[in-house]
Amino acid sequence: MKIYNTLTRQKETFTPIEEGKVRMYVCGPTVYNLIHIGNARPMIVFDAFRRYMEYKGYEVNYVTNFTDVDDKIIKKAQEEGVEASEISSRYIAECKKDMEGMNVRPATVHPLATEEIDGMIEMISVLIEKGYAYAVADGTVYFRTGKFAPYGKLSHKNPEDLQAGHRDIKVTGELKEEPFDFVLWKPKKEGEPAWKSPWGEGRPGWHIECSVMSKKYLGETIDIHAGGEDLIFPHHENEIAQSEAASGKEFAHYWMHNGFLNIDNRKMSKSVGNFFTVREIAQKYDLQVLRFFMLSAHYRSPLNFSAELMEAAKSGLERICTAAEQIERLQKVSDRKEMTAEEEELYAGTEQFREKFEAAMEDDCNTADAVSAIFELVKYINTNVSAEQSGSYLRKLYDRLKTLCDVLGIRIELKEEVLDGEIEKLIQERQDARKNKDFARADQIRDDLAQKGIILKDTREGVTWKRA
Ligand code: AMP
Ligand code: ZN
Repeated sequence: MKIYNTLTRQKETFTPIEEGKVRMYVCGPTVYNLIHIGNARPMIVFDAFRRYMEYKGYEVNYVTNFTDVDDKIIKKAQEEGVEASEISSRYIAECKKDMEGMNVRPATVHPLATEEIDGMIEMISVLIEKGYAYAVADGTVYFRTGKFAPYGKLSHKNPEDLQAGHRDIKVTGELKEEPFDFVLWKPKKEGEPAWKSPWGEGRPGWHIECSVMSKKYLGETIDIHAGGEDLIFPHHENEIAQSEAASGKEFAHYWMHNGFLNIDNRKMSKSVGNFFTVREIAQKYDLQVLRFFMLSAHYRSPLNFSAELMEAAKSGLERICTAAEQIERLQKVSDRKEMTAEEEELYAGTEQFREKFEAAMEDDCNTADAVSAIFELVKYINTNVSAEQSGSYLRKLYDRLKTLCDVLGIRIELKEEVLDGEIEKLIQERQDARKNKDFARADQIRDDLAQKGIILKDTREGVTWKRA
């Protein structure tokens, strides 16, 4: 299996530290709001990669964190007049719902930064002892970047250039020794969450969180560290500096970074108004469509999101599901069990698609080509199934299709799912019917929804609903 390693800027053959096992860390979201579709990209593509490695027989220890202490979380908490922990736990729960909708499997562990503070204090203390960090008078602890010689090895930036660039923008009054020294610990500000430490009350910097969580759950050296390409610098560069300075060992062997998701060819931005949360997409589409859309591109390419491309993903996914449905239907009417020699041969003909699929995934997780191989299999199925064929043959074709779709986490099982947007629309229609005294129609809508497992409840504040 080949992986494009940002560290060496080339595709390398993957060799795990321990045979048959993979230790992988993926930087997770900062939880101050519902996740947006950009955040969904690393979740989906690295989940597909994890599934492929498991399909190959690796035991994958997959760790992805939630950053639950951060300026944006604190700001939101202050706006709402609640504790920061209330904001983060709310959005962690919401993020998990979105992950489920996108069929992103829970990680082996989902550590929270706020539950790992002791480990952070410990690593910062080691860095100070070794001369890689220093505390200043106001209680801030900085990493002494200039002392870590390989600094810049991931982003391929030259430390001298970096330093020169920073010098111009040096803020007067800062207590740090050098402009490119970064924060490991920051002192408490009024009204902010804080923890006791040898340097006074305060909270950790963002970078130290991932170094510590990765070490705790995966060890000092891991196989793969991943995230969006915006994290290469400074986040991942700083993680490397902290972890390697503390342990004296290489932090991660392979660094994988996904390209950015743009909307209508522009950077996603709230202020421009081209910004979607995963939840907004769920109003209109089954989130499987969003997943399929993401996997139809190579993870390192920039990906453009548009209504047309989502429609194309929707019909592509439908084509696959229709083929699966067709086999299932034929299987029910098939009255022969045993496979004929001709069917054996036809089934053997599907081997090429499995091979193509695997070759694509072996080549730096090329899900775009893996999806093409599935489409070719679907075409083959559509021309080679009929009611005259044996149940075993049909079953084997179905299993082949399902196995490959499972590797990408694409569900093909028949499922009539009612989307949130449709439910809201029907509830409104029911309210209108009631207003017009058309109680028969109103009751019918309620009963239809109940049949699909949607329970309505009339309350004084209006109609609420839940899935049974
Ligand atoms: P954040 O919450 O900003 O730290 O982001 C969580 C993850 O989402 C990181 O791996 C980011 O690199 C990734 N990410 C954020 N925005 C985008 C985007 N527009 N396209 C792709 N990945 C993104
Ligand atoms: Zn991180």
